[in-house]
Amino acid sequence: MTRFAPSPTGYLHLGHAHAALVAHAEVRRSGGRFLLRLEDIDRARCRPEFEAAIVEDLAWLGLAWSEPVRRQSDHLVDYAQALAALEGLGVLYPCFCTRADIQAEIAAAGQAPHGPDGPLYPGTCRRRPAEERARLRAEGVAHALRLDVAKAAALPGPLTWHDRGRGVVRAEPAAFGDVVLARKDTPTSYHLAVTVDDHLQGVTLVTRGEDLFAATHVHRLLQALLGLDTPDYHHHRLLVDENGRRFAKRDKALTLRALREAGRSPAEARAMAGFV
Ligand code: GLU
Repeated sequence: MTRFAPSPTGYLHLGHAHAALVAHAEVRRSGGRFLLRLEDIDRARCRPEFEAAIVEDLAWLGLAWSEPVRRQSDHLVDYAQALAALEGLGVLYPCFCTRADIQAEIAAAGQAPHGPDGPLYPGTCRRRPAEERARLRAEGVAHALRLDVAKAAALPGPLTWHDRGRGVVRAEPAAFGDVVLARKDTPTSYHLAVTVDDHLQGVTLVTRGEDLFAATHVHRLLQALLGLDTPDYHHHRLLVDENGRRFAKRDKALTLRALREAGRSPAEARAMAGFV
């Protein structure tokens, strides 16, 4: 069972088509099922018209998926349960910092360790005394929930996963620091929702771009803490344009929609996405 999990924040481009076709090809080879999941927890950026366009454009490309489509915003209760379990393990803490607070703290420290997404969270709220946390919560100050990664990683001990391209990989979840598992504006985060969903949907092979390879270290730890299954992973290469740049939402001419409107056939679009 594989899945394609786009976020409805824009039209699908050739890079998305490549990712969807990789997952779909795997299922055609091994006879499993191909699922579609809409990762729409970012309410400010996701739009219903992009959701409808994803369904339409994938069908145009010639892909068929097993119903139902899972829309993350319909399943917030699943993420709340996972957060409660993590809370029970004592590995979460509330973080009241604003972006500006974090930047100021990093600047004051002179140098900050960097992770795959930039400077790591400096741990300000992890060190906050319990009474202060309680007071800020009582005052209704908005907060995120962060994973105390050092404490969390010590619970299961060393972890590995199997990656189709790299073999057995040893998980090093500390690379991202204390990641956010519930944001201030939405009661989950990418890392939490994707890990819970892959388990609940019975995904046995996660195929996704190699830009998300580092995130798998965190996902593997969450699986161990929550008692979730660990799928196989295949982090595929990212499709680039003729200038060697990754496709992005700014490349309007290379959305599937634009290709279709320009009279390209689905077979041509598949070839452009690296599949003949
Ligand atoms: N929703 C993510 C994206 O659009 C993909 C998540 C994943 O495949 O794990 O980049």
